[in-house]
Order: sequence, then structure tokens, then C-alpha cells
Amino acid sequence: MIMDKHTKELVDRGEMLPLMEEFYTIQGEGYHKGTAAYFIRVGGCDVGCHWCDVKESWNAALHPPTHYLQIADNAATYSDTIVITGGEPLMWNMNPLTKALKEKGLKVHIETSGAYTLTGHWDWICLSPKKNKLPLDEVYQKAKELKMIIYNKDDFRFAEEQASKVGKECILYLQPEWSKREKMIPMIVDYVMKNPKWKVSLQTHKYLNIP
Ligand code: SF4
Repeated sequence: MIMDKHTKELVDRGEMLPLMEEFYTIQGEGYHKGTAAYFIRVGGCDVGCHWCDVKESWNAALHPPTHYLQIADNAATYSDTIVITGGEPLMWNMNPLTKALKEKGLKVHIETSGAYTLTGHWDWICLSPKKNKLPLDEVYQKAKELKMIIYNKDDFRFAEEQASKVGKECILYLQPEWSKREKMIPMIVDYVMKNPKWKVSLQTHKYLNIP
């Protein structure tokens, strides 16, 4: 999609966002697993995880710039818990959308790799660092949960390295990458029993066959 100058200015200010999809479902992962929430998936990501299950999100130009007030008004009709995900939502200025959601009294969560400046007003930050593009220092201390995706054995080492950077209260999760789950789940179970500061997170929405 080719953007006119005015739209580009609004996107640059976070007043329009490339909206890929939005849906009301059950949060499947991490601390809020099992909780109904409205998901807003913002397009655009250049982190490039080879196992990414939302590669359609990468090219922001494929997703229509949508005004933040329209997104907020719509989200508020579904749930009092809103999860902003991507893509990598922090590629955009999240201040306008999160401010509008907070003004409606909603709880606002983000799922991020932390690779971009932290904008926005958040009740919950789920940080999921990726080796390709590490989180910025400012994000580590603000994370409420650290969700490490385990694709291979080296990811346990990476998980420990990343856990050493978050705050003491941050809840630590190891989550098998979906295509490797049969191989990695026994290793994760064993690892968590030996290192109980970690908890297991599964993509339960995939087992439930919901988005
Ligand atoms: S950071 Fe997330 S959206 Fe971006 S490539 Fe990695 S898994 Fe996909």
C-alpha cells in the first residue's frame, strides 16, 4: 500500500498503525494464560526469527494504516484486557493507542521482543528476547514476564543470559517453539525441575485450536 504524506505523518506519530488483525480470544501463553483478552496485531517486524509463525506480519505495507481511536473504540467493546502484539509493536509509537485504551479503563498488555524504544503506557510487559536483535537495556527492568522461546539446546543458555538482565520480580518462562515441541518439551520439563526459578509456558491456544 502506498501511503500519502498525511497518512505517513500520522503513522510516524503513532496516530495510525498498520493493523494486521484483531480478535477476541483466550490468552494462551505466559502469566495470563487462560484469560479472555482482545488481541490487536500490529504489522511490521524486522527481527527475522526463522521459526516465526506470523511471517505475514513482517511487511507493514501490507496492513492498512488504521486510526488509533478507531482501534481503541472497537477493542473496548470486546474486553477489559487488551493485548498488543505483532509483528513488533514497538516499531511504532504506542503512546496514542495505549493512552486511549487506558482512558477507557482497560488493562493494556504488550508482547514484544524489546528491540525498539519502549513507548506506550503498559499494565503488563511480556518481553520475549530474540538472538537476532536483542532488547534495548531500558526494556529489561520494566518487563513483568520474560518468555524465552526454546527451539534448540542453545536457547537454554540464551534464556539464562537474558534472565540475568531482568528485575527480581520478573516471572521467567520457557516455552517450546511449536514445531519443535515434541523434542523440546521433555528437555524443558527436566530443566525447570532442576532450575525452578523457571516455569513452563505452552501455546495453549494452539492446543485449544483457537487464534
Ligand atoms: S520478533 Fe516475533 S514477529 Fe518478529 S520475527 Fe520474531 S517471532 Fe516473528
